[in-house]
Amino acid sequence: LISSTTSSGLHIIHIAAEMAPVAKVGGLGDVVTGLCKALQKRGHLVEIVLPKYDCMQYDRVVNMRALDVVVESYFDGRLFKNKIWVGTVEGLPVYFVEPLHPDKFFWRRQFYGEHDDFKRFSFFSRAALELLLQAGKKPDIIHCHDWQTAFVAPLYWDLYAPKGLNSARICFTCHNFEYQGTAPASALASCGLDVQQLNRPDRMQDNSSHDRVNPIKGAVVFSNIVTTVSPSYAQEVRTAEGGRGLHSTLNFHSKKFVGILNGIDTDAWNPATDTTLEVQYNANNLQGKAENKLALRRHLGLSSADTRQPLVGCITRLVPQKGVHLIRHAIYRTLELGGQFVLLGSSPVPHIQSEFEGIANQFQHHDHIRLILKYDESLSHSIYAASDMFIIPSIFEPCGLTQMIAMRYGSIPITRKTGGLNDSVFDVDDDTIPFQYRNGYTFLYPDEQGVNRALERAFSNYRNNPESWHQLVYKVMNMDWSWETSALQYEELYANSVARARSSASRS
Ligand code: ADP
Repeated sequence: LISSTTSSGLHIIHIAAEMAPVAKVGGLGDVVTGLCKALQKRGHLVEIVLPKYDCMQYDRVVNMRALDVVVESYFDGRLFKNKIWVGTVEGLPVYFVEPLHPDKFFWRRQFYGEHDDFKRFSFFSRAALELLLQAGKKPDIIHCHDWQTAFVAPLYWDLYAPKGLNSARICFTCHNFEYQGTAPASALASCGLDVQQLNRPDRMQDNSSHDRVNPIKGAVVFSNIVTTVSPSYAQEVRTAEGGRGLHSTLNFHSKKFVGILNGIDTDAWNPATDTTLEVQYNANNLQGKAENKLALRRHLGLSSADTRQPLVGCITRLVPQKGVHLIRHAIYRTLELGGQFVLLGSSPVPHIQSEFEGIANQFQHHDHIRLILKYDESLSHSIYAASDMFIIPSIFEPCGLTQMIAMRYGSIPITRKTGGLNDSVFDVDDDTIPFQYRNGYTFLYPDEQGVNRALERAFSNYRNNPESWHQLVYKVMNMDWSWETSALQYEELYANSVARARSSASRS
């Protein structure tokens, strides 16, 4: 196994279920890569452990090879072998764990949504820690994400610190409290955790069901640092309405809980260098943006008769959280207002997918509306570049990355004031916000009137004040959404936690 080099920075290991661009379902994948790159740039030794999915984008892994070792990990009363692969993704060293388990946990042609997800990811969490132990790693920080790798926190303190993997502090980031991965308490035993000890109200027991365990709660209780992905969302989840049953746990552990706004990977999302675009452009040369708009309209068969016809973009998972009924409404309202609308999205919820398929069919050959119901990374870049406005009417939004990407590509966000949207989009007409921060159109109530008013104000400014619109585009393209500031905050949390551990160790 690759040995850990010594460096003056920290040794940080992320254990995650996603990493862009090789294994990405949503924002989690972007965050793991973006944060790790920023930390690496700051001089830390950063490594990542991922499952080896069959459906990964293998062409984005550099120099992938199997190591000449087998790591055996415990599950369901016996040991299973894991083949370990290494490779480089976006300049970051990654370990891929391939369990040689008869259930073929990561040979499912999809990342999530399997009947045995709890088993698959509790197995992976344990195998990842086993890998670190057997490789003799001495990380300062082990950072796990979402319920899929939340098991790392209790496994570390209950089983692996006593075995000698004891140099680390555990950081846990919850990217969305909607997904908690609860299961019958007995399921916890498979990965070797003690059900009797952990199925207690102050540990992993689900707050609303006493015979179920909750991995997110376990990670909140057992980690040294707990973060979520924006300051506003951190506040919201501490309330009964927003906490999805975990508000009391988060309030109890509030001293170690903080919201840090995600950044975006400004190398991957850069209209000046983006080779997927028809033409590259920057804030000083918006002609290129107009050419991308024309190219997308042609590509999708939309009318390009009026170059000044506003184009509204929307790129999203179609799940209730994203305000799907308001997205549907925005399509029709945009048409009434004389604009064009392009939606790129797909839904894991069958009735939502079929509803949007109906709308897509209705507008199949329409001059002004196009719905593309699939996941398509390259098309997403073209839509960010082509659109004048970008709508995100979320019911709740832990952070949201699409508003930041849209701004980087000069598309003005129209967003509901919630979670991370509330921390990154500020209404152009809000006098309480300093002018230099005002960058979009916002609405508070998640209803059709809210969408209408924001859309209408955006259309009116676009049509009636081209010069002020141009200045707004220039302003948002020059805003800094990079990981730099947020990575600094993570670095500070890590360093403080490590320092506290060392000072208490030296006292005892
Ligand atoms: P979430 O994590 O809730 O899905 P985020 O806004 O944090 O939402 O991140 C969404 C990410 O996924 C963005 O990078 C966005 O461009 C991308 N994305 C969402 N849907 C699609 C799609 N259908 N095709 C391509 N990219 C998509």
